[in-house]
Amino acid sequence: MKLYNTLTKRKEKFVPLTEGHVSMYVCGPTVYNLIHIGNARPMIVFDTVRRYLEYKGYEVNYVSNFTDVDDKIIKKSVEEGIPAEEVSRRYIAECKKDMADMNVKPATTHPLATQEIDGMLDMISTLIDKGYAYAAEDGTVYYRTRNFKGYGKLSGKNIDDLEAGHRDIQVTGDLKEDPLDFVLWKPKKEGEPYWDSPWCKGRPGWHIECSVMSKKYLGDEIDIHAGGEDLIFPHHENEIAQSEAANGVPFAKYWLHNAFLNIDNKKMSKSEGNFFTVREIGEKYDLQVRRVFMLSAHYRSPLNFSADLMEAAKNGLERIVTAAENLRRLSGHAAAEDMTAAEQALYEKSEQYVRKFEDAMDDDFNTADAVSTVFELVKFCNTNASSENSKAYLNALSERVDLLSGILGIIPE
Ligand code: AMP
Ligand code: ZN
Repeated sequence: MKLYNTLTKRKEKFVPLTEGHVSMYVCGPTVYNLIHIGNARPMIVFDTVRRYLEYKGYEVNYVSNFTDVDDKIIKKSVEEGIPAEEVSRRYIAECKKDMADMNVKPATTHPLATQEIDGMLDMISTLIDKGYAYAAEDGTVYYRTRNFKGYGKLSGKNIDDLEAGHRDIQVTGDLKEDPLDFVLWKPKKEGEPYWDSPWCKGRPGWHIECSVMSKKYLGDEIDIHAGGEDLIFPHHENEIAQSEAANGVPFAKYWLHNAFLNIDNKKMSKSEGNFFTVREIGEKYDLQVRRVFMLSAHYRSPLNFSADLMEAAKNGLERIVTAAENLRRLSGHAAAEDMTAAEQALYEKSEQYVRKFEDAMDDDFNTADAVSTVFELVKFCNTNASSENSKAYLNALSERVDLLSGILGIIPE
């Protein structure tokens, strides 16, 4: 199995750190609103990666966080006159409902940033002790970016170019030693949620949250770290700097990033206002249609949301469902129980679709080809199944359709 690693910028053979096991961390959403279908792309894509790894026999420890303390959550709590925890609690529940609706399996662990503050204080202290971080006068703790020699290795950015860019926008009165330094801990403002710390009452920066949750639930070194491509810089670059400086070992072996879901060729985003929530789309289309649509493109290619593509996904799904129902109906009425030699030969012929499906998925999770292969399999079933066939043969074909659909998270019912 090969996957494209953003860190090395090439397709690599997948070899997990521990044979038979995969540790995987996927950056989750900030919970201040209903998720939009752009946010659903990493959820569906990496859930499919997980399902495929499980199909291949790996035991997958899948961790995906909820960022439940953030400026946007605080803004919403002020607007609505309710505590920030109430905002995040509400939208975590809504997000889990949307995930279930899209047949995204719950993670092994869904940690919440606000429940992991102790680990963050520990990692920040370690970084200070090792000279990778410092507390400024006002209690803000910054990461000393230049001290981390590998900075820029994920995003391919050069630290001097970054510095030149930052210098233009540096604000006077900034307490940083260097414009490139980023926040690990920041002092609270009036009315904001806060925690005690050795430096000031305050709250964590966003990047430290994922480094700490990944360490706690998966260990210092992990197999796969994933998220949308907007997270490569600075979020994932900063996670690497924090984790590797604190733990003294490489952080993630493989970095996977999905391309954007666009509308009119522009990234769908809450801040641009050009989004549809998963809920809105759910009123028009079956949950499965969203899944077929999302997987009909390779995860590293941009995908443009359009009614036409949704209709195409709907038709495709109908083909799968109709074929699966047909097989079940025929099996229910089949006169003969056992497979004949001719049926056995046909069943073996249908094995080619399983191999083709695996070849597609082994090639950096090419779900577009995998979906097409399921269409080919159902076409084969439509041509080669009738009321003359045995129950055993019809059931075996039906299981094959269920198996491949199931890896894509599509339930052919
Ligand atoms: P956010 O809540 O903005 O931090 O996003 C949560 C996850 O959704 C991250 O992995 C983002 O990269 C991803 N994401 C946000 N918008 C899009 C989009 N339009 N297309 C694909 N992924 C997205
Ligand atoms: Zn993250």
